[in-house]
Amino acid sequence: MPQDDQWVPLLLPSEIRRMDRESLIREIREIKAQYKEKMAILAHHYQKDEIVELADKRGDSLELARYSARLKKAKYIIFCGVAFMVEAAAILCREDQKVYFPAPDAGCPLADMAEEGDVKRAWGELSRILDVGKIIPITYVNSPTELKAFCGERGGIVCTSSNADKIMEWAFQKGEKILFMPDENLGRNTCNALGMQREEVIVWNPQLDGGGCDKDAVRKAKAILWKGFCHVHLNFTAQQVKMARENYPGCRIIVHPECQEDVVNLSDAAGSTSRIIQYVEESPPESAIVIGTESNLVKRLAKEHPDKTIVELSHSECPDMARVTLRNLHFVMKYLGDFNVVEVEEPIASHARLALERMLEVK
Ligand code: SF4
Repeated sequence: MPQDDQWVPLLLPSEIRRMDRESLIREIREIKAQYKEKMAILAHHYQKDEIVELADKRGDSLELARYSARLKKAKYIIFCGVAFMVEAAAILCREDQKVYFPAPDAGCPLADMAEEGDVKRAWGELSRILDVGKIIPITYVNSPTELKAFCGERGGIVCTSSNADKIMEWAFQKGEKILFMPDENLGRNTCNALGMQREEVIVWNPQLDGGGCDKDAVRKAKAILWKGFCHVHLNFTAQQVKMARENYPGCRIIVHPECQEDVVNLSDAAGSTSRIIQYVEESPPESAIVIGTESNLVKRLAKEHPDKTIVELSHSECPDMARVTLRNLHFVMKYLGDFNVVEVEEPIASHARLALERMLEVK
């Protein structure tokens, strides 16, 4: 995993490669002060503390998408996250704004599990079984921009882990079935929360012909879930939940809905990063809270709430989120230009914008 002090990209100018941590932070603050409101630094909750502390806005995917769409004065949006988030901000921003990505190599393995070709092949296979006009495609925001465009073109929509339940309800008002991509676990946990029956939910494995699904099961299903997962959240297990209850008697356990179904079912609550933060804030002093999500957020919550015992269900970091460093952040801020700018080509941008804007309109 790239650590700022161990992994210094040779492509960065030598004066930045040689700077120590304190100088980097000082200069980043100075550059930000020069630009004032013309520059906005956005950081996802999974970023390291040193990045989050420099941000104008920290949030989950939904909050950052909403925030970037509403930025009035900022011309330079510096987005500390992974590619799919930065591309969503680039799609939603105005023409006079530029979105900069400090770590263009920060992708998301979950997003990569639903490639456009595989999704189009699945759609074709589904069309030979039923009327795909009755299916509303939903993609989790953790997805390639091409997949958001695919959904936008077909009356579909984007969701985040904050609003997946509302988005599914929206979709069932528009169509008879949903195709939910690419995270099976978020899909499954949301279907469970909405009270859907086991036989109403099937899993489409893009590695297999016909998704590995029986045709009758496809016709009967209300929800077809893409077989994808987040490796960071797959690290959490039901056994860890049981052990946490033994180690911290009386504790409350909250996990992210990208965790597997059995982990969510054994926990006291599940929710997006913002929901987890709210859960901690609303818990009384002296509470013991065990959290199953990316470790940077859990460690920060422990630091910010010393009156509570906050521990990780297990240690699990996202190596892609860690690719944003003080050095590459300093670099994009200092040399604002045409590099590290994220732009999405037409017509993909317009179609993806449709799916994103539909999401932003769902209350
Ligand atoms: S935590 Fe999981 S879903 Fe989020 S960016 Fe990392 S790999 Fe992707």
